[in-house]
Amino acid sequence: MQEKDCLFCRIIRGEIPSSKIYEDEYVYAFLDIAPSFAGHTLVVPKNHYKNILDIDAGEAGHIFAAIQKIAPAIIKVTGAEGFHVLQNNNEAAGQTVFHIHFHIIPRKTGDGMTLWTPTPYENMEKMLETAQKIRAEIQ
Ligand code: 5GP
Ligand code: ZN
Repeated sequence: MQEKDCLFCRIIRGEIPSSKIYEDEYVYAFLDIAPSFAGHTLVVPKNHYKNILDIDAGEAGHIFAAIQKIAPAIIKVTGAEGFHVLQNNNEAAGQTVFHIHFHIIPRKTGDGMTLWTPTPYENMEKMLETAQKIRAEIQ
């Protein structure tokens, strides 16, 4: 289940070169070409899914199993003290390649990377109201 012109499908098929880190029946992982830090890796299902709402949940399990194998190796090689598993959905959230992928980003204390600026609710009522509305939408 691949797409002809998708960048990551093409990398998986070997039509475009990549720095492969890991491969199994379901998963392909390779170094990000524009990393946050050395070792920044992309973990990708071999089948083409657009985002996290689209991927088969069983296949997402294979991705997580692969991350559990790959992340310790990245930590060992880079000397990282921690890491992110980060996944962007849709353009507004920074997704630029529309074949789902999980970033493994190694982190060290004081490395200067920031992810988000906290924006508190106006008050506790607003927070409870938001939670209630979201709960009501879950099917
Ligand atoms: P997104 O922004 O969609 O979450 O992440 C896409 C990632 O793919 C980016 O971090 C970008 O650097 C990486 N990327 C884009 N094109 C290529 C490529 O041709 N090869 C590799 N290895 N990474 C790529
Ligand atoms: Zn694809």
